[in-house]
Amino acid sequence: MHVPACVLCEAGPEEVVWRDARLRVIVAPVDGLGDVARIIWHAHVAEMTDLGAAGRQHLMAAVWTVEAALRELAKPAKMNVASLGNYVPHLHWHVVPRYTDDAFFPDSIWSARRRTGVIHGLDRGQLAAALAGRFASGAQPSAPA
Ligand SMILES: [Zn+2]
Repeated sequence: MHVPACVLCEAGPEEVVWRDARLRVIVAPVDGLGDVARIIWHAHVAEMTDLGAAGRQHLMAAVWTVEAALRELAKPAKMNVASLGNYVPHLHWHVVPRYTDDAFFPDSIWSARRRTGVIHGLDRGQLAAALAGRFASGAQPSAPA
């Protein structure tokens, strides 16, 4: 039986801004919006409940750390956080800064476009440094002061 390749197991070129033994944080562009982050669990599991309690805690702490860093750096109108995986059933979270002038606002980024959309880029180096600092400090993720 042919098992289809998983694009998150067999990752192609990715812009990884942080990683550890269990997960990686990447930045990727979304047409009509700009850069978003994804937190991808390395192992091929589909659901949060496939992870043990420690794994779930580790993953969610990473999600909130990325959210806090993006709030500080991107200053979005709103943050969207989502785990779907209907197309790629390999555990990953989308952490998406949203802007009132992006192509989809106020709908989800998977909705029909409402306008052309202003592109909001992220400085990868700045984000990587911010994440390294936040993960190294072990501080609880929090909003910008
Ligand atoms: Zn996979």
